Amino acid sequence: MNASKSMQLLAVAHNYQEQDKKVLIFYPATDTRGDVDTVSSRIGISKPAIRIDDKINIISVVKNVMPDCVLVDESQFLTKNNVLDFTRIVDELNIPVICYGLLRDFKNQLFEGSYNLICYADKLEEIKTICTYCNKKATMILRFMNSEPIYEGEQVQIGGNEDYKSVCRKHYFDPIIETPQNKHDAEYYYPSYIPKK
Ligand SMILES: [Zn+2]
Repeated sequence: MNASKSMQLLAVAHNYQEQDKKVLIFYPATDTRGDVDTVSSRIGISKPAIRIDDKINIISVVKNVMPDCVLVDESQFLTKNNVLDFTRIVDELNIPVICYGLLRDFKNQLFEGSYNLICYADKLEEIKTICTYCNKKATMILRFMNSEPIYEGEQVQIGGNEDYKSVCRKHYFDPIIETPQNKHDAEYYYPSYIPKK
């Protein structure tokens, strides 16, 4: 769907482990990609990960292992309490926590996890992605259902024939479905995009 967040997380984990340092990877249970207890990237690398559900005590899990670093995938799905637990791991256990996630959902609202990370994180870093339709920075996520853009519905859709694209603001509101007005842009920026209509 977007920037290779999981790949970056796995690269950081690899760097720590290469120096014989311990890393713990967490992911929220609402992540429905089907992969249980691993974080994997599209290029096929994966590492074991700990699922965050209602029952887990994140702080005691981390205390038992005392890793050199904690990594969190799909952090947009964290709850406020999860985020506060991770701040305690930084402040009380002195262990760095790096969270990887999306900022906004397809309705262009902040996810709960992302909102709370903005409020509580020491530092925010942007992983840049290019718009699907042009060369501008992608700042938004557009949801497609049966190839039509949609702007309403549940934040997390389970199953269904849906697809997400990273887009700039202009193409969020006006994804390229060829018209005389945007035909030139479409061809200029994205010559391989030929609407099937
Ligand atoms: Zn664009």
